[in-house]
Amino acid sequence: MCLQGFQGYGYSKDFVLNMTRINDLRKSNDCTVTLTNDPDDICSSCPNLKNDLCENEKHDEIIAKMDDEVLSQLEYKKEYNSLDLFNEVSLKFNTLKSVENICNNCKWAEKCLFYKKLK
Ligand code: SF4
Repeated sequence: MCLQGFQGYGYSKDFVLNMTRINDLRKSNDCTVTLTNDPDDICSSCPNLKNDLCENEKHDEIIAKMDDEVLSQLEYKKEYNSLDLFNEVSLKFNTLKSVENICNNCKWAEKCLFYKKLK
């Protein structure tokens, strides 16, 4: 969802470069994605990630809840074809109500194209 809304904003230059790279990769037909609620390839370049946890403990808990909400609608640890996964996400999370527990407290919501499209 956040990748679909990405406009080049992020926590640091390295984070934005990595997010941009992953956002390009996920659009190719032969890309596979495995979902997890642990720190992932996107988190790996986040300056807030320390010892595999968000350094802000409260934020870490919020992010885990957001991930769990998304994973409740999809298959954990399954290897998805990226294009299929993004289609499925678009079908399942297509109203403000469907993302209220995920996006409502997000600091990027005002800049996020995915969220703006639902408004
Ligand atoms: S509003 Fe935030 S949590 Fe929701 S899709 Fe956009 S960036 Fe992700």
